[in-house]
Amino acid sequence: MPTPSRVVVVPQQQGEPLQVLDLTLPDPGPHEVVVKQYASGVCHSQLHTIHSPRPVAQILGHESTGEVTAVGSAVTGLAVGDTVMVTWVPKDAAQAARPGTGVTLDLPDGTQANTRSVFTWATHTIADEMFVVKVPSGIDREVTAIIGCAVITGAGAVLHTAGVQPGDSVAVFGVGGVGLSAVAAARKCGADPIIAVDLVDDKLDFAKRFGATVGINASEVDPIAAIRDLTRREGVYDILREPVAGVDFAFDCIGVPVTMRQISEVVRAGEFGRTRGGVAVLVGVPMTPLELDSRFMLLGERTYRASLGGSCSPGEDLPRFLQWHADGDLDLDALVTQRYGIDQINEAVEDLERGRIAGRSILVFD
Ligand SMILES: [Zn+2]
Repeated sequence: MPTPSRVVVVPQQQGEPLQVLDLTLPDPGPHEVVVKQYASGVCHSQLHTIHSPRPVAQILGHESTGEVTAVGSAVTGLAVGDTVMVTWVPKDAAQAARPGTGVTLDLPDGTQANTRSVFTWATHTIADEMFVVKVPSGIDREVTAIIGCAVITGAGAVLHTAGVQPGDSVAVFGVGGVGLSAVAAARKCGADPIIAVDLVDDKLDFAKRFGATVGINASEVDPIAAIRDLTRREGVYDILREPVAGVDFAFDCIGVPVTMRQISEVVRAGEFGRTRGGVAVLVGVPMTPLELDSRFMLLGERTYRASLGGSCSPGEDLPRFLQWHADGDLDLDALVTQRYGIDQINEAVEDLERGRIAGRSILVFD
């Protein structure tokens, strides 16, 4: 049976406000699942879509928690009534090996809106089973909605892409929802120090709740010099016979030119003749080319690495991060700092754009 849904639609015409439309979701195809949603996160990367030219209207949102209401004929491991989380990363190797289809919805004016992956800014969504992960029933219906993008992206970058070990030094540039998840994961991995870098003192103080041991306000001091001072290793020398200084891992959770460059400059050199240098990890979605000091990278034998969706396998990682939340290692109740109804979507997007969201905001559906 087709399912009515209230859906946020980004009009084809750039600059128009987002619309909330009463649409009808089709019956699920063989590999599709219909999910009645409890809540969805509002991700910063969606602003890129909203501000980019598009051939047709778009449907957005890529993290949520909800309940299955219909499954296609070929779907395995999901049944009506299951509590699930929707994400944008294929949940396991078998599902990643299928092409998947994206979703196209008919609009009342005769045009269409589509997404190449999932949409979760809607009371009900339809998605390929590869993006739908069964989780235990009885989990918090609202704050868990941010695991499917913010948490996997930030915490996964630390856990999987970087593989941070106890005692490693870590710097996280940009402590919004993704960066705070990275900080929490660094604490869980036993990193020390955990240096948060941002432009606002309140955000740095907030990051200490998640495990940051030092806050650096980059609007007041040079974060490169400050981090090198904090991490100088006497008796360990680089190729220039200078003491090695800098962190083992630096994460850019923003993705603008200045932070993309700064993370490369704050990772330490290797101890020449003995060990390799630190690793800079790009996490935030960039819109510009990356410029590096190639000589600096080579002489310190430093690595620059990219992390997409935290290198996560959601089938394993979503339950893992739910457990972290249950164990008190990842305070999602604190990380969700703002809630909106679906009809407030334009307000939600504007608040995000103006930097008014300390952690992560969510849409809550009745
Ligand atoms: Zn996202």
